Amino acid sequence: MSEHNCLFCQILDGHIPANIAYEDERVMAFHDIAPQAPIHILIIPKQHIATINDFTEEHQDLLGYMILTAQKLAQELGVAEDGYRLNFNCNRLAGQTVFHTHLHLLAGRPFSWPPG
Ligand code: AMP
Ligand code: ZN
Repeated sequence: MSEHNCLFCQILDGHIPANIAYEDERVMAFHDIAPQAPIHILIIPKQHIATINDFTEEHQDLLGYMILTAQKLAQELGVAEDGYRLNFNCNRLAGQTVFHTHLHLLAGRPFSWPPG
């Protein structure tokens, strides 16, 4: 399931270090190496799924679980009430750079809308 050329699969396999915030049998969450906010965590599925376009109905539970994981982390980190942003970048125009789907959890500062 893991892809040799995928950075996040290599983190999952322990070949590249990461600052892990949470892990279970379905997902891993780790701190972004170039944080764009005081809290910037990436929640990834343990399955290699390249982009949001590659999710199918069989992944519905997994997708929901990624969002619930982000919600729990936000609560544990004490930012749930003040607010936080969840974000998926899909492909080129959205600025996706790592092609192993990840949910960004950003918190700890105000965010503007529309996003840049
Ligand atoms: P995206 O633009 O949505 O594909 O986001 C990819 C994210 O992965 C960026 O925010 C990067 O800073 C982050 N990133 C890249 N390499 C690493 C790494 N080795 N450990 C943690 N985060 C990383
Ligand atoms: Zn991967």
